Amino acid sequence: MTKTAHIIIACLDAMPPSRIQRLVEIFPFPTKLDLVRIPLPKKAFTKKSGKWHAERVLSYLSNQLKRLKRDRHWTPAHIRKILGVADVDLYFKRPSYLFGLSEFGNDAIVSVHRLRPHFYGEAHDEELFQDRALKVSAHELGHAFGLVHCRTKGCIMNYAKTVEDIDGQRTEFCNPCRERLLKKVSGTKSKVKP
Ligand SMILES: [Zn+2]
Ligand SMILES: [Zn+2]
Repeated sequence: MTKTAHIIIACLDAMPPSRIQRLVEIFPFPTKLDLVRIPLPKKAFTKKSGKWHAERVLSYLSNQLKRLKRDRHWTPAHIRKILGVADVDLYFKRPSYLFGLSEFGNDAIVSVHRLRPHFYGEAHDEELFQDRALKVSAHELGHAFGLVHCRTKGCIMNYAKTVEDIDGQRTEFCNPCRERLLKKVSGTKSKVKP
């Protein structure tokens, strides 16, 4: 039986780009969204680089999701993921940057900080920015549902190192990835490693 996915969008000190709402159209199972405001946890901030440690924010978010599940009496039948959306620079391990991070089979975080054309000295392009935010969000949630990177040209699960890579993706999962997603949600609990 196909379960409903309930994705909690955590606004981390910033309102997420509105197009993220279209996540409900991208997944091959019924999806519903809820928005919650959660402040960025100060302990995840690194003064030296001025960036936030993605994994620390992510584990904080997973704990917040546990708390929400306790407090909000949601139906236990749904599969729940929390997706943190931040507008600050994130890093993990090396002090570079990330568009997003996910723990396989768990939760996800994205940063829209480097998705604006403006960041690269280009003219503002709201459409492009919104599209990128949607793609990165779907990609990280794909990992959160247990998908690994995919090499099918244009699949949203293509590895993306630069914004040009993101722009080369379509706003959809390829058919085998859709199949895999359906399988993940319909029962098997095995965790997929990268
Ligand atoms: Zn990825
Ligand atoms: Zn794919």
